[in-house]
Amino acid sequence: MLFPLIDELATTDIVSVRPRVAVRDALQKMSQRKVRNVVVEEESGGYGLLTACDVVRLRFSQTGLDTAISEAGYHPLPYIAKGSNLLDVIELFDNAHGYAAVIDKSNRLFGIVSNTDILASLDPQSMLQRQQLRDLLRRHEVKKMPHDTPLGEVLASLVDQDDAVVVTDQGAGVGIVTTRDAIRLLQDEATLTDPVHGHMSVPLRTVTCDLTVGEAVAAMRELNFKRLVVEDAHSGELIGIITQHDLIGVAYSRWAELMHHHALELREIIHVLENKTARLEKIAATDPLTGMANRTRMEELLRTEQERHCRLPEVPFSVLVIDIDHFKRVNDTWGHNQGDFVLRGVAQHIQGQLRHIDTLARWGGEEFAALLPQTNLEAARLVANRICRSLAENVFEHTGRVTASFGVAMYQTGESIPSLLGRADEALYRAKRNGRNRVE
Ligand code: GH3
Ligand code: MG
Ligand code: MG
Repeated sequence: MLFPLIDELATTDIVSVRPRVAVRDALQKMSQRKVRNVVVEEESGGYGLLTACDVVRLRFSQTGLDTAISEAGYHPLPYIAKGSNLLDVIELFDNAHGYAAVIDKSNRLFGIVSNTDILASLDPQSMLQRQQLRDLLRRHEVKKMPHDTPLGEVLASLVDQDDAVVVTDQGAGVGIVTTRDAIRLLQDEATLTDPVHGHMSVPLRTVTCDLTVGEAVAAMRELNFKRLVVEDAHSGELIGIITQHDLIGVAYSRWAELMHHHALELREIIHVLENKTARLEKIAATDPLTGMANRTRMEELLRTEQERHCRLPEVPFSVLVIDIDHFKRVNDTWGHNQGDFVLRGVAQHIQGQLRHIDTLARWGGEEFAALLPQTNLEAARLVANRICRSLAENVFEHTGRVTASFGVAMYQTGESIPSLLGRADEALYRAKRNGRNRVE
């Protein structure tokens, strides 16, 4: 699950004004374009935001709507570089108005990002499905006012961008006044002494507190609401307001949790795969009958040794090729299973006579090859003779004694591996011709 790029979320259709423009002109633009705020483009290249709440505040203050925005005051907008990931900048959205400017490399305004845009990017499916709105309500009291309250009093109580006043009649909610309504009403110069019920938005849409966070995210997106008025599921009493900001907080901590969980899962999978790979690599390099290296592995080791010899020609290495004598008789006399048993026994016996830096491989059938690093021909011959003698003395259960013939060759600088093995093979067949159970 990836976090979206800011560019994909940003609103690029922006209403902007210069700071010297009067607040009233900004209000008119907001009303025409049905937006809750305008971007203030400063001459110096900075950006700010004038919100619906600012306009309401100014309308009811000494300053009034005919003051220039620069004098009336507005909010500097935090910057986000175009191309940023939402996760990298999410903490910027803890500011009160919930907006940030997206700027490109040349410091030009690309768009603005709001809580609404972030909410639109959330996947309700991935949200905590069980957490209910009632758990989030603590921070918000519903502002309720009777339907005959003067409009001006209602508007003046909107101090926060997410604010709304629920209008009641005999205690029951009948309508709502939001910051969006405030822009409309101020622009239309509605009579502020009028009772609010002639100007409020109807009907009042509410949700019950047993809605889950995921459902609430979906509802806000569908209705394009900045807030949800929440009522008790049983009594119908209005018990709170949930804002986009509240939901985003929950949604992102859930998202972070999911990411963390996925990371743990991935680590687990990687661990299993690494083990499996190690097992498969071992299997691919091992002869199943004897458990020794197989031909592929031996060829690999021979190449490595050849490369080492290229770098350090003064360090010799040798090979032994070993073929069990008259092995066909073992099979014919004792059966194939006993033959296998002898093959394993011979392999273990030879291995037991080698150093740990040496490698024994089953080359094929009843033939083995041993790689002896840092060993010259003379030393290799001694090793081969020792193994040859001790094998001949060894008595296997059932089958008794077996002998083997050995061909020894030392690597000669510049020769190929097949050439080295070819010379060892020739030596082996000389050993066979010269009577077996011997080393050539
Ligand atoms: P020599 O002394 O000339 O090497 O005679 P030999 O009988 O050992 O040689 P030959 O090549 O004629 O026979 C090898 C035998 O090894 C024949 C084959 O069936 C047997 N063999 C090869 N692989 C296996 C195996 O995996 N298990 C068993 N039990 N026998 C095998
Ligand atoms: Mg043989
Ligand atoms: Mg053979």
